Amino acid sequence: MSPEFFVPKPKWGQNFLVDRNVLSDILDVAELTSGCSVLEVGPGKGILTEAIAERCCRVFSIEIDRRLEPWLAPLEERFPGQVSLLWGDAQTWDYASLPSEGLTRIVANIPYSITTPLLWTFISHCLKTVRRIVLLLEEEAMERLLAQPKTKGRGPLGIVLGALGGGRIVRRVDRRSFRPAPHTDSVLAMFNTTENLETATRPAFRTLLEDAFRHRRKTLLWNLRSAGYQCDIVGEALTRSGLNPKQKIRAEEVSTENWLRIFSYLQART
Ligand code: SAM
Repeated sequence: MSPEFFVPKPKWGQNFLVDRNVLSDILDVAELTSGCSVLEVGPGKGILTEAIAERCCRVFSIEIDRRLEPWLAPLEERFPGQVSLLWGDAQTWDYASLPSEGLTRIVANIPYSITTPLLWTFISHCLKTVRRIVLLLEEEAMERLLAQPKTKGRGPLGIVLGALGGGRIVRRVDRRSFRPAPHTDSVLAMFNTTENLETATRPAFRTLLEDAFRHRRKTLLWNLRSAGYQCDIVGEALTRSGLNPKQKIRAEEVSTENWLRIFSYLQART
């Protein structure tokens, strides 16, 4: 297909980055060095893919829209053995099939509509050797991921990311940095994934958090009891984490450190 005739599909969040200053900040915060192995989701027309390859990194780019092949295939030819295009859906990709030498970074301008499921996918399947995730995200979504205890936005995904090392907003990115421009402003977001890897990536940790947050107006104890946990064991886990089970504690009030303590106690007892 001739490049002029490309019609972006909103359902795939096709807002292509055009601002080279943002591109340069992405590369800097990713701290790419030659030998880094990068997973990219949604290479689009390849602006980021090309820049990553130019830094002498290996890059695996998963793209769902085959119409983008005329932009991407030349990159595979120009950087043989460095750029690998993987055609398919990043949400259901078989990440175990990627080379076993290990990814060290995830760097992407992802479609905003799949931010949450994609982050859970990365956490479940990609973090063995990845030490940093750098993403362009919708501003509001990032604020929720950084939400502190006792605030409305606090939830399971933000807690897991916090346990893994936490994140920060590197800079705000104006919507005019993309073509077509999305409806909201974005941020350049960075997450370290260097701590508590064994615990925080376990499906059981996610399940505990999701059970505890199921009904936000109810207490943590009520939610966990409804999910089948034994009341006295949860009470003991809270006490050992320095919390008073007699107080009406809600899931959003508990710190990330205490969630890790509660989980480890429950694992030992069940
Ligand atoms: N990286 C390019 C850039 O910065 O200009 C494109 C970013 S655009 C926001 C998102 C890209 O993700 C599009 O190319 C879209 O086709 C692709 N995409 C959308 N959903 C996807 C999915 N589930 N799996 C893989 N790629 C997807």
